[in-house]
Amino acid sequence: MNLVDRILTIVVTATITSFVWIVAGGSLIENANSDSQRDATRPAEAAPSPSPSETAPGVADMATDSPEAGALDTRTPNAPSSQDAGQLMVPVKNIRPSDLTDTFSDSRAGGVRLHEAIDIMAPKGTSVVAAAPGTVEKLFRSDAGGLTIYVRSPDGETIHYYAHLDEYAEGLKEGQRVRRGQRLGTVGSSGNASDEAPHLHFAILQTTADAEWWEPANAVNPYPLLTSR
Ligand SMILES: [Zn+2]
Repeated sequence: MNLVDRILTIVVTATITSFVWIVAGGSLIENANSDSQRDATRPAEAAPSPSPSETAPGVADMATDSPEAGALDTRTPNAPSSQDAGQLMVPVKNIRPSDLTDTFSDSRAGGVRLHEAIDIMAPKGTSVVAAAPGTVEKLFRSDAGGLTIYVRSPDGETIHYYAHLDEYAEGLKEGQRVRRGQRLGTVGSSGNASDEAPHLHFAILQTTADAEWWEPANAVNPYPLLTSR
């Protein structure tokens, strides 16, 4: 071997060796890295054991959530009941919203005017109950309405009108506060209602707090309000 060959051999060997070292060393480093990653991951995976403790706060969160959910749940029953305060109930006992017929736009008096109320058919003597809370403002007997009740809402801006009653509830008087569902009287055919078709004529009148019960007011269709549950 001449000098050049030797040098070449040395260089090649050195190159190969260093290449081997680079590759091996690199993979060692990689291994080391993946090991350290594993070590790094393990605590993270072992974090599932912290994670249970994390889940525990999570459960605690759930627990605090469930009280919250419970609070929400209580709000939910509360919300409907507070909505219920605004929500109307069908003002005739044992009549479901699905039993109702929308008669608001029916013509009356030979087409001279619109009905602007709902007729709730029920046997004579069936209890009439307050659709919403309010104050009995007027107990009035009229030719058309017969025995009627005007109940004004707490904000004063709505009057519920109940007509054709057979009787008032015993002791019912003007100025009396009634709660939703409270018995007001019984279904009948007083006024111009047919004896063969006793029913409650129920109207919702939008008025102003300073307007009298007999003053003109805007009738609102009770049907969608009674059936929107
Ligand atoms: Zn009617």
